[in-house]
Amino acid sequence: MEQKELRCPICQGNKAEIVGEDVKLHGMSQDKEFLTAFLTVLQCMQCGYFMFFDNSAQFTEKNSSGVT
Ligand SMILES: [Zn+2]
Repeated sequence: MEQKELRCPICQGNKAEIVGEDVKLHGMSQDKEFLTAFLTVLQCMQCGYFMFFDNSAQFTEKNSSGVT
């Protein structure tokens, strides 16, 4: 599993594991059905919190320096 550097909003942990890619979520909100764009799903390796990002999100690698 590929690991990416990011910050968990719950425990501030910086290790997460990708558990799903190109995932679409759907559900009901106030009697209206919604469908999300394709998402990447990451799970915090410390507390297990699930984080969802759209596929355009970029994750910074710990060893990379700056953005091109
Ligand atoms: Zn966490």
